[in-house]
Amino acid sequence: MNAENTSSSNESLNFIEEIIEEDLRSGRHSSIQTRFPPEPNGYLHIGHAKSICLNFGLAQKYNGKCNLRYDDTNPTKEEQEYVDSILSDVRWLGFEPDQVLYASDYFQQLYEWAVQLIRAGKAYVDFSTPEEIGVMKGTPTTPGTPSKFRETSPEENLALFERMKNGDFPDGHCVLRAKIDLAAPNMHLRDPYLYRIKHAHHHRTGDKWNIYPMYDWAHGQCDSIERITHSVCTLEFIPHRALYDWFIEKLGIFPSKQYEFARLNLNYTVMSKRKLLQLVQEGYVSGWDDPRMPTISGLRRRGFTPESIREFAKRVGVAKRENIIDVGLLEFCLREDLNKRALRRFAVLRPLKVVITNYPETNEVEWLETENNPEDPETGKRSLPFSRELYIEQDDFMENPPPKYFRLSPGGMVRLKSAYIIKCTECVKDDNGAVVELRCTYVPESRSGQDTSELKVKGVIHWLSAAHAKPAEVRLYERLFQLEDPAAEDDFKKSLNPNSLEVIDTALVESALSETLVGDLFQFTRLGYFCTDTDSNTEKPVFNRSVTLKDAWAKEVKKQ
Ligand code: ATP
Ligand code: MG
Repeated sequence: MNAENTSSSNESLNFIEEIIEEDLRSGRHSSIQTRFPPEPNGYLHIGHAKSICLNFGLAQKYNGKCNLRYDDTNPTKEEQEYVDSILSDVRWLGFEPDQVLYASDYFQQLYEWAVQLIRAGKAYVDFSTPEEIGVMKGTPTTPGTPSKFRETSPEENLALFERMKNGDFPDGHCVLRAKIDLAAPNMHLRDPYLYRIKHAHHHRTGDKWNIYPMYDWAHGQCDSIERITHSVCTLEFIPHRALYDWFIEKLGIFPSKQYEFARLNLNYTVMSKRKLLQLVQEGYVSGWDDPRMPTISGLRRRGFTPESIREFAKRVGVAKRENIIDVGLLEFCLREDLNKRALRRFAVLRPLKVVITNYPETNEVEWLETENNPEDPETGKRSLPFSRELYIEQDDFMENPPPKYFRLSPGGMVRLKSAYIIKCTECVKDDNGAVVELRCTYVPESRSGQDTSELKVKGVIHWLSAAHAKPAEVRLYERLFQLEDPAAEDDFKKSLNPNSLEVIDTALVESALSETLVGDLFQFTRLGYFCTDTDSNTEKPVFNRSVTLKDAWAKEVKKQ
């Protein structure tokens, strides 16, 4: 075995890595092959991202290979749009499949194996109704009873199965079942279905097939055909493992092995394609890529980076027991990443005009330097225009402030970030008494970096020059669901948060931002991390708030 293929001993391994290292050490496998097997019946979500990072990550770590295999055995729910989105999501996350394959590639082989099983007297065609079969299966504490079709001869079964395949029977008329053990404590072994009749059009095989394999009959054999060494899936498949092994053993094919880990559960989130599809179809969100969706495409549009999602998957780890992860951890990972890479920009969401009365009346403009990203000096500096008329955030002024309010108030002083200290001398109100403008004076010798004023001010706020600011739309998001576990409700949609989207169309941004491209990422000083949305146009850019600056998680992580 190649020494490069195992980790250094001081690194802690998850249980799957331990198994892999042992398999490589013992020579059971000389290299590893994994796969990510989504059903193309919806867009991938953050739970799938976890599985992608795990399967592709294992292959990378051990110089193995990972396939993308579409589990397209259910023709009625699958669509090309989903097939395309899945591959692009995998690539966006930073992984390239060794091969892109389809379970439907193996329909002929699976059919031939079913014939082999029938010949060996290990499968039979059953015309009982699903209800009858359900009753005959027995219960976990009482054995099942045989169907009257269980002892049909192999020759007769072969002929019947041929007729199933040829489309002689209507949907649901009969099924092919494996003949295993009606008394098995594991209910999955009590003569499971192998094939059902479905006269349906398949997105790849068209109308060729009238019978479609069940998950259990397809999955292990597909793995075996691809010589998958470690077939990683989620815990609910534990009871299926005996069946997975039984088929492989009876067919005498490559011995792929199944290993199960705990699926990713996130609070305040639903993570089932079926439920997410409902949100899309019933118009609760704008589409699969709505920035509030936990889909990979939604997270991408929201401003999540592949790095942040991979880091999240790493921190979540690989558990053997179900648990619920705080969605705050996902946001934490994004903040950490964007703090390092996002350029800082000024934006004012709800502008309040400020007139600097002691600044020259003329159209004088001063250009003040400010850093693009203090975390990354290589990004350099930019110049911001400062002039007599400015905008600040409405929230940064209070006429009657509480104690310890360090922003602007009548008679109070504040520093404009990277500019001057100003003092509010007057507030101008409209007929309704609302403050519409502030009159302030500035302290010329307080310019940032050259401050000789010796004034001490506690508050620092952001601002824009009125003549230079450009209009923008800003979209702020809150959680899509109000309850920690929306799926536990009888109707998960009842816990939808009516305030999950706030559109602010009064926002102003630095003029440089009017030329932003979709997907660009920024920190708007004091407001959070934002990214340019696909709805942007040249007249008005649209920015999504990806995540706020507030960081309750940093403390939690430090504690750990
Ligand atoms: P859903 O119920 O959301 O439709 P699924 O399990 O039916 O999910 P598949 O397309 O069958 O979706 O899943 C492809 C792979 O992704 C499987 O190996 C599955 O175990 C894994 N996967 C799906 N959801 C999660 C999750 N929440 N956490 C980890 N892995 C997941
Ligand atoms: Mg599924």
